[in-house]
Amino acid sequence: MSEPIVFMLDVAAADAAEPAAGWASTVRRIEPGAPSLQATELSATRGDGVFETLGVLDGHPQAVDAHFWRLANSAEILELPAPNLGQWRVAMRTAGATIPVDRQGGIKLVLSRGVEGTGQPTGWLIATVAEDDFRSRTEGWKVVTLDRGYRHDLSEHAPWLLPGAKTLSYAVNMAALREARRRGASNAIFVSSDGFVMEAPQSTVVMRRGDTLVTPRTDIGILPGTTQLSVFALAAEWGLATESRLVPAAELLDSDGVWLMSSVALATPLTEIDGHAVAVDRELTERLNAALLARRE
Ligand code: PLP
Repeated sequence: MSEPIVFMLDVAAADAAEPAAGWASTVRRIEPGAPSLQATELSATRGDGVFETLGVLDGHPQAVDAHFWRLANSAEILELPAPNLGQWRVAMRTAGATIPVDRQGGIKLVLSRGVEGTGQPTGWLIATVAEDDFRSRTEGWKVVTLDRGYRHDLSEHAPWLLPGAKTLSYAVNMAALREARRRGASNAIFVSSDGFVMEAPQSTVVMRRGDTLVTPRTDIGILPGTTQLSVFALAAEWGLATESRLVPAAELLDSDGVWLMSSVALATPLTEIDGHAVAVDRELTERLNAALLARRE
C-alpha cells in the first residue's frame, strides 16, 4: 500500500493578503510518520470540523468547484470561518500532483475547528492512491436499507443536527457500513424514519425510471453529491430527464436501475436491496463510468 501524503495548511496566513511567494508558501508537506496534529485538536476530540474527498484522475482533481462550494457551505453551517479557496486550490493542486497519472486516487481536504482554546482553525490535505480495483463498478453491490432515525423534514425542525454539512463526525456512517456487512451486504442506504430514501453512508443514491434519473431532494438532511451533479449534467446531454424529489423507499425496488455514486468509487450499480433483486442497467452503468473517468476537471 502506498503511504498517504499529508500537507498542512497555514490557515492563519490565509486571513491576510496572498504572500509574495504565493499561497504555495503556506502549504507544508509532512514527512511520512512525522507528527502533524495536536492531541487537543477539536477534530480529534469532538469530530468538530468539515471535509471533502475529491477524486483524482490523470493527476487532476475532479469537480473542484462543486467540492469547494460544498466545503464553504459546510463551514458556514458549522459557523467556521470561510475557507480561503485560493489557498485551498493551490494546496489541492500540489496534493493532486503526488498521485501518479496512471493511477486513480483521492484527496481529502479537512478544515477543523482547531486546537482547543486557540479559536484558530486547522486545515490539512491527504492525498491517497486508490488500492481498489473498482470491480464493483461492473459487479455491483448488494445493499440493505437502514433506518436513519430522523424524519425527512429534519432540516426544518432540527437544524442543529447540521443537515447538509459534510462534518467529520462519520462514526455513525461507519457503524452503518459495519451493520451492512454483518447482514451480508456491501453497503447501506439510509431511510428516514417516515420511509423516504436519504443517502448511503458515503454516497448519493440515484435511480432510473424510464428515461428519467431520480435522486432524493437534498433538503431532507442529505449532502448534495458532486458525482450525482456531474451525472445529471451528462444525463441532460444524453437526452435523459433528471429529477430531485422525495423517493419512497419501496420505489427503489420498482426502478430500472439504482446506483450509489461518489467521487472516487464513481457509479456502482446495485444488484440487490434487502435481499430483493433490482434491475441492473449495465449499458448506462458502463456509459456513466466511462464518461466520469474521461473527465479531466
Ligand atoms: N453522501 C455522503 C454522506 C457522502 O459521504 C458522500 C461522499 O463523500 C456523498 C453523499 C457523495 O458525494 P460526492 O459525490 O461528492 O463524493
